[in-house]
Amino acid sequence: MSLAQKLADERRARLAAERLLELKQAELFSANRKLGKHAAELSNEIVETRAGLANVISENQKVKSDLQVANQKIEIAERRLWLSIASIRDGFAFFDVEGRMIAANPSYLAVFDGLEDLKPGITYAEILQIITEEGIFNIGDTPAADWRQRMLTRWQQPTPEPVVLRLWNGEYIKMIDQRGHGGDIVSLALNITDTVRYEAQLKSEQQKAEAASRSKSAFLANMSHEIRTPMNGVVGMADLLMDTTLSEEQRLFVSTIKNSGEALLVIINDVLDYSKIEADKLELRPEPFDLERCIHEVMTLLQLSARQKGVEMIVDYDLFLPTLFVGDPGRMRQVLTNLVGNAVKFTSQGHVLVRVVGVVRKGGAEAELHVTVQDTGIGIPADKVDHIFGEFNQVDEARNRQFEGTGLGLAITRRLIDLMSGEIWVDSTEGEGSSFGFRLTLPIDENCDSLPTPLPPGVRHVLIADEVEINGQLLRRQLEQMGARVTLSSDAERVAAQAASVDLVLLDRNLSDGGALELVDTLRTRAIDVPVIVLGADIADISADPRSKLTQGILAKPISRGDLFARIAQSVEDGPQTGDTAPPPPSGVPSRAMRLLAAEDNKTNRLVLGKLLKSLDIEIEFATNGLEAVDLFQSFRPDMIFMDISMPRMDGKEATARIREIESSGQGHTPIVALTAHAVEGDKEGILASGLDHYLTKPLRKPAIFDMIAQHRPPEARDPFPREAQMPDQASG
Ligand code: ADP
Repeated sequence: MSLAQKLADERRARLAAERLLELKQAELFSANRKLGKHAAELSNEIVETRAGLANVISENQKVKSDLQVANQKIEIAERRLWLSIASIRDGFAFFDVEGRMIAANPSYLAVFDGLEDLKPGITYAEILQIITEEGIFNIGDTPAADWRQRMLTRWQQPTPEPVVLRLWNGEYIKMIDQRGHGGDIVSLALNITDTVRYEAQLKSEQQKAEAASRSKSAFLANMSHEIRTPMNGVVGMADLLMDTTLSEEQRLFVSTIKNSGEALLVIINDVLDYSKIEADKLELRPEPFDLERCIHEVMTLLQLSARQKGVEMIVDYDLFLPTLFVGDPGRMRQVLTNLVGNAVKFTSQGHVLVRVVGVVRKGGAEAELHVTVQDTGIGIPADKVDHIFGEFNQVDEARNRQFEGTGLGLAITRRLIDLMSGEIWVDSTEGEGSSFGFRLTLPIDENCDSLPTPLPPGVRHVLIADEVEINGQLLRRQLEQMGARVTLSSDAERVAAQAASVDLVLLDRNLSDGGALELVDTLRTRAIDVPVIVLGADIADISADPRSKLTQGILAKPISRGDLFARIAQSVEDGPQTGDTAPPPPSGVPSRAMRLLAAEDNKTNRLVLGKLLKSLDIEIEFATNGLEAVDLFQSFRPDMIFMDISMPRMDGKEATARIREIESSGQGHTPIVALTAHAVEGDKEGILASGLDHYLTKPLRKPAIFDMIAQHRPPEARDPFPREAQMPDQASG
């Protein structure tokens, strides 16, 4: 091999080695770069991890310090809670599910008076044992084991009832135990001694107050009796004096005495009632009663003042509504008297209408009644409508000065309706009139036959002549409901022309052109013999006219539907022109007068009664006490007795009892009517329970007295009412 070759080879080898070196150097650089980059990354990671670690460490420290604060707070809260629990007056303890005491405050432990065993760990059963052994609670006569058992059973209930226990020292502890979720029991022992004592004190105060209220009521009742008795004399004597010959001036004085006396009696009754309602002493006395009759009685009583003003009194009692209900008739009458009395008082012309409608419910067992008292009087301003139901409230003093009254009537009325679970309201337009209404539900009396008497078959077409339109309309509706055809007229001439073509004519007595009797006279002269019934407020006055004999009857207004249909039936039966409204006398006129015994200790009252009855064809004897009454009962044999209740020596109740005893040996039953000034709740029952049949409150009213006499006249005695005094003017009492 040549040198040159060798040199060339060497050079090639050196060049190759140099290239390899360059390559290796490049690889080394690249490896170095990678290494450098990795090292940089690693160092970054280390920095980050270090920062995270520092964070964790600081958070850890924060949590540690928070925990410490929280622990401190818990400790403080726990300390405070225990401090509070320890400081409360009432006992507090809690027990685990096994009934083992976990903790108790000093008040809880105090009742055990330092007994060492009483500490956490003791069971409830052991506590009960200690209680009975040490006599900590007053358990009365209950055997200790029974008492413990009872307490333990109670404790084991899911929700034990609180129990009140009495400590040996007379203090009262109320135990309230409450079970928590895990079965733990929290037990509270409340010292309720003050409350118990306060309650006892309240109870005794209440008893004292009730006793005081009772004596107040009794005092009021007595006062009312004491005032009523002489007032009866004043009113009665004034009434009698009015019937004597008096000068104009004297008549004015006497009527003032009478009116003031009556007004005073109303006030006394109102105040008495109100105080009874206030003292919750007023109770309803339900009994069967006839609502329609009750309304008519009230209307009759208030008729006179209405008639004097020319105010028409009208009753519109739904023809198909029952009339017999079970309720308190006295209180119902009082409500109606207040409302109708106000209506008459505040009305100077037009009418006062009582309307009763209703719905029968529960298969005829009860009725919802809707009674309205409507007037055409002065009305009530809209802003006073609510005010007037308040106590002593009137519309305004100046307006009311011309009307008597206390402003108690409506307040009492509303309370009475409340008591009957009813509702009362008023609609009124000032200057036009008022309408007071009340709604009540009353049981229907089982003896009630609610269907009206049908019209006799011959009465198909009725002619009615009444100038007061509402009266005519009302009668028309009632007769049409019963199937008749009705023609209304207000003109006497037209009536005369049509009368021959109808079956019955009803005439208001005050028809213009001479009145009803004049028209009847004309009809009869023209030989038109259609039955005619005359309607009027003052029937005594109508009967006194000889032409009344030409009619088939006279009906008192307001007309009761019973009377109307009975009279129509009677008039058709009687046939035309018999003319007599009285029932036919029994064969042979009785020869003896009715015998009446009146027992009354008060001289003035005897005088009043004697004068009241003076015009009657009766024989009367007076007794001045119960003993005399019993004697006279045996010697005089009265047909009827009026009996005062409060009398010396023997009172009316006892006298009646003696009379009933005498009668029990087969001498029949003499009607005895109590006359009393008592207006106290329960009196009526007491009186009727003593064997009296009826009850009249003083002051004595002529219509009520006459009514009693008429009801009890035996057939063998003569009619006590002379023709001209026939069924007395109801309002003249
Ligand atoms: P009194 O009639 O004794 O004043 P009430 O309580 O019965 O008391 O009536 C209260 C007031 O309501 C009456 O004073 C009167 O102003 C008014 N009032 C009651 N009823 C009527 C009525 N029908 N028309 C007009 N005002 C009436």
